[in-house]
Amino acid sequence: MDFRADPGLEAFRETVRQFLREKVPADLLGLPRCTRSPREQIMRWQKLLNAHGWGAPYWPREHGGTGWSVAQMLIFDDECTAAGTPTQDGFVQKMLGPVLNAFATPEQKAEHLPATLDGERLWCQGFSEPGAGSDLASLRTRAVLVKSSDGDHYVVNGQKIWTSYAHHADWIFMLVRTDTSVKKQAGISFLLVDMKTPGITVRPIRSIDDAHHLNETFFENVRVPAKNLIGAEGAGWSITKFLLNNEHATTADLPDIKRYMRELNRMATTLRAGEGRLIDQPAFALKLARLTAEQEAIGMLVQRVANLEMRHDPASHVLGSMLKVRATELQQRITEAQVEALGDYGALAYAHPHEASPVPPYPLQDMARGVANDMFLRRAATIYGGTSEVQRGIIAKLQFQL
Ligand SMILES: Cc1cc2nc3c(=O)[nH]c(=O)nc-3n(C[C@H](O)[C@H](O)[C@H](O)COP(=O)(O)OP(=O)(O)OC[C@H]3O[C@@H](n4cnc5c(N)ncnc54)[C@H](O)[C@@H]3O)c2cc1C
Repeated sequence: MDFRADPGLEAFRETVRQFLREKVPADLLGLPRCTRSPREQIMRWQKLLNAHGWGAPYWPREHGGTGWSVAQMLIFDDECTAAGTPTQDGFVQKMLGPVLNAFATPEQKAEHLPATLDGERLWCQGFSEPGAGSDLASLRTRAVLVKSSDGDHYVVNGQKIWTSYAHHADWIFMLVRTDTSVKKQAGISFLLVDMKTPGITVRPIRSIDDAHHLNETFFENVRVPAKNLIGAEGAGWSITKFLLNNEHATTADLPDIKRYMRELNRMATTLRAGEGRLIDQPAFALKLARLTAEQEAIGMLVQRVANLEMRHDPASHVLGSMLKVRATELQQRITEAQVEALGDYGALAYAHPHEASPVPPYPLQDMARGVANDMFLRRAATIYGGTSEVQRGIIAKLQFQL
């Protein structure tokens, strides 16, 4: 792979920077660090991007995307993260969008894609259940088809858990069991459900970073039009494999890794430790050098995996699992190093940047705000998107098939 600067890519970077300078209002720039922006910001940002033709940076042109190369997508992510823009709805960009593009009927696309791309419809993912996480095929939420003169519909009963941002979502894409008489994978279907449908209850789960990202979502006799089924009944498992195989490169959260490293470098060069700066301490300088080298390695692996994914090369699965393990462990180590760099101030669990802060002003708050929260949140990175243990199992199994 050639890592020399490409003049075409540098021109593209300048195009993105120009857009950020000239088209983005000041209140959508320089926003506090977070892995997911508040609902209103996501919606405004999505609308703005869509109006500029950049509503789907990760999709091919034939599906209304930008058709950008992997390198261009990474530059776009980099520049937006550095400028502190809101995040996009990751569920749409990396999961649901590719599924709709590949499996939805023209009517389903017409119903969901325009509103979603214009930022009017946010989504959440309803896969995991109590008792069905790593072993997803054991899910039990039941959907029974009822034929009726006023339109065929499914009646859904069951519970999902860890439903990130269900409290902000307009719709959920979920897996349901439509057949209990066949092999468990064969009885699963993929359904789209309007979160305003009667019978849905969302209950918050407060997480270790002291914020509300997660929920339990209950379904009690929820009536879902049969036209909301994606693909055939029983095709949910193969659609899910398609969805999960599509997201390897993005599980690295490379823009966040880079942002964490920029912040850590700033801490190392400005914070005092004894007589000198933190970076003058050999032990911390060595730690910083190691983390920097790993960040570079992850950056190269992301490009490699993304290129393989674009070609639908099966090698992307084993390398993607390696990337997930190494990148999420790196996220944890960098955020831990930030807390360590901040000393006593890093040990406090500060309020989440988007929630009312009960904490009075404190020293270093510009640098420290949100750092402990991110360190706590990233403890979950080796769990969500498939645990590290499960990824290691996949690596062990797949490497013999290459
Ligand atoms: C912050 C966060 C956000 C999430 N967001 C969503 C979401 O939006 N939507 C959604 O549907 N889900 C979401 N999840 C759920 C996530 O996908 C599951 O937590 C994950 O798949 C693990 O499942 P589990 O929690 O049931 O743990 P389990 O599967 O019960 O695993 C428990 C332990 O056993 C180990 N283990 C299990 N199977 C194996 C095996 N075969 N080999 C070796 N070890 C094994 C695991 O590694 C783990 O250590 C989220 C989770 C978190 C933490």
